Amino acid sequence: MTCDEVKPLLNARLDDEIDPIRRAALDSHVDSCSSCATELDKLQSVRDAIRGQLPYNKAPLDLRNQIRQALRGAEYLDNGAHRTSWRLWGTVAASFAFCALAATPFLVNAHNQRQLLAEELLSAHERALIGRSVDVISSDQHTVKPWFNGKLPFSPPVTDLAPDGFPLEGGRVDYAGARPVAALVYGRRLHKIDVFIWPSAGEKAPPPRFARNGYNEISWEKDNFLFTAVSDLNDAELVAFVDLLRNR
Ligand SMILES: [Zn+2]
Repeated sequence: MTCDEVKPLLNARLDDEIDPIRRAALDSHVDSCSSCATELDKLQSVRDAIRGQLPYNKAPLDLRNQIRQALRGAEYLDNGAHRTSWRLWGTVAASFAFCALAATPFLVNAHNQRQLLAEELLSAHERALIGRSVDVISSDQHTVKPWFNGKLPFSPPVTDLAPDGFPLEGGRVDYAGARPVAALVYGRRLHKIDVFIWPSAGEKAPPPRFARNGYNEISWEKDNFLFTAVSDLNDAELVAFVDLLRNR
């Protein structure tokens, strides 16, 4: 196995979620690779710190349902591509780790909390790309907005940007920063843009710009809501999209 294959599996390795054959290959790589061994040590010490210093909380029902649904999506995809489910496990494990960390004011400072929130939103976007991406499929903002009634403790602003080349495709309830958030899904050619929305009162905002693994994230605050747009769309088009949305 190569480092690129091993690193995404380290979380799953710590959780003993890897089949024996792959585990043996992974372990023998880690034994001979100081970079992967260091990474594994780091993950282990973060875990130990969290286990040792934090009260353990049961995952909220929303989050559990969401992971269950994401896994169902992976089973479906797994017929053709086995790698997908490992990627998904990696994402799920990472998002658990981030949830735990985001709730850890004693371990991480405010700056890190903002970064972690940005990571979590990106993970939510990746999960949606692997499994389901919309719960209500509609290009009509007057259908999508009332759909959130009763599913969220707030009513997110919903805007269609079809005339500007960014059609609204639907929405879903997602979970980030230890709270439910609205996710609006927009399309641009073959790309998806998720816009996460939640009330800003008393909340930490993610950093205005964030990028990882070819994904771009832009966050802003408007009318007492925080917004984060995430996509693999090129930066110029994502900026144009955000400008349109901000100015509605
Ligand atoms: Zn390695």
